[in-house]
Amino acid sequence: MSNLRSLFYQHCAQTSPTPLELEIIKAEGVYLFDQNHKKYIDLISGISVSNVGHCHPKVVKAIHEQVDKYMHLMVYGEYIYSPQVKLAKKLSSILPSHLNTTYFVNSGSEAIEGAIKLARKHTQRSELISCNNAYHGSTLGALSIMGNEEYKNSFQPLIPSTKLIRFGEIEDISLITKHTAAIVIESVQAEAGIRQAKPEFWQKLQQKCAETGTLIICDEIQTGIGRTGKMFGFQYANFSPDIITLAKGFGGGLPIGAFVTSSKIMSSFTNNPILGHISTFGGNPVTTVAALATLEVIEEENILPSIPQKADLFKKYLEKAPHVIDFRQAGLFMALEFDSFETNKKIIDICLSKGLITDWFLFDSKSMRIAPPLTISIEEIEISCKIIMDVLKNL
Ligand code: PMP
Repeated sequence: MSNLRSLFYQHCAQTSPTPLELEIIKAEGVYLFDQNHKKYIDLISGISVSNVGHCHPKVVKAIHEQVDKYMHLMVYGEYIYSPQVKLAKKLSSILPSHLNTTYFVNSGSEAIEGAIKLARKHTQRSELISCNNAYHGSTLGALSIMGNEEYKNSFQPLIPSTKLIRFGEIEDISLITKHTAAIVIESVQAEAGIRQAKPEFWQKLQQKCAETGTLIICDEIQTGIGRTGKMFGFQYANFSPDIITLAKGFGGGLPIGAFVTSSKIMSSFTNNPILGHISTFGGNPVTTVAALATLEVIEEENILPSIPQKADLFKKYLEKAPHVIDFRQAGLFMALEFDSFETNKKIIDICLSKGLITDWFLFDSKSMRIAPPLTISIEEIEISCKIIMDVLKNL
C-alpha cells in the first residue's frame, strides 16, 4: 500500500466500508489523472460540480488574480466588495425579476438550511413539506426533510413538523395547507435517479402554494448551472419558485452555495432579531470570483445551446443498449437503469477499470449516474459511450 493510501486509512474519515481508492494527482477538462498517470473521463463531474470542466482556465485565472488582492473579508452583507456584488448582480440578471437578492453560503446543505429558516421566519409557520427520495443535504435541518426514512432513523429526533409527498403525484398536493411554510422540491429529482414530473403537477403545485401562501423552495443544487440544458432546472420544468438554492456547479470547483429570493422575503433576516442568519465564509471573495467566471464561461462558450445535441448523442448510444431497462434524461443529467444493484455495480467497476468514472444514485442503486462536464466534446461522448457499450455487450 502506498504511503498516502495508508495515511488516508489512518487519518481521513471514511463514510463507506469500501472507498473507491482513486488517487488523483491532476484534473483538466473532463479528465482526471491518477498517480500512475492513468487517464479517466469523469462522467459525473465530481457529482455535478465541474460543469465547466475541471480547472477551466478562465476560472483558474480569476482565482489567481483574486488571491493576490485579498482572500477574506467579513462577508454577510456588511462590507462592500466587488466580487460579491458583481456575482449577486449577475445572478439577478439571469433570473426572473423577483429573484433579485442573494445570500451566499459555502455548500448545498447550508443553502437549504438558510432557505428553510427564511421561509419559516417569513411565513411565521413551521411546517415543511418535501418529496420521497429527495436528498437536500446532511446537516440536521436538511436531513429532516430527506425523503428516505432509513437515512434519517439513526439521527432522530430531527426537526418536527415535516411531511413527505410523492414527487409528481398531483393527489398529494392536497397535503399542502395554510400551515405549510414551504415545500422544498427539485425540478428534476437527482438522487432518486433522474425523475421528472408532468407539467400539470407543476401547475397544480404553483396554484396550491399561491392559495395557501406556501413558499416554493426549488433545490437547484444539482439541476442548476446548465445541467438540464437551461441555466436553472425550474426553467426546464417551467414553474416559478419563491426561493432557489444553489451550490455544486455554481463555484466551478470551489465551495460556494447561495439562496436567492425577492428582496421582500430576504428582508425577514434583517430585523427581529438583527443578523437573522450569519456565515463567516459564505460569499468569500475567492469563491465568488470563481462563481462569476463560471457563469461567464457558460455564456461566452455558448454551452447551453450545445446541450441538446450532446444529450441526443448519449441517448442514441445508450437508450437501447443491452441490459438497459430504462434510460432517463434531462439534458446532460442521465440515469441508465439495470435489473439490480449488483449488475449496475459490476458495470460501474468495469467502466472504471477502462478509465471511465460513473456512479449510482443514493436512492436508486440500480441506475448508473451520467452527468458529465457540460463542456464534454462530441468525440469524448463517443469514446465514453463506446466504453459503456463495450462493457454491456461483453457482460
Ligand atoms: N441538494 C441536492 C439536490 C444535492 O444533490 C446535494 C448534494 N448531493 C445537496 C443538496 C447538499 O449539498 P452539499 O453536499 O454541498 O451540502
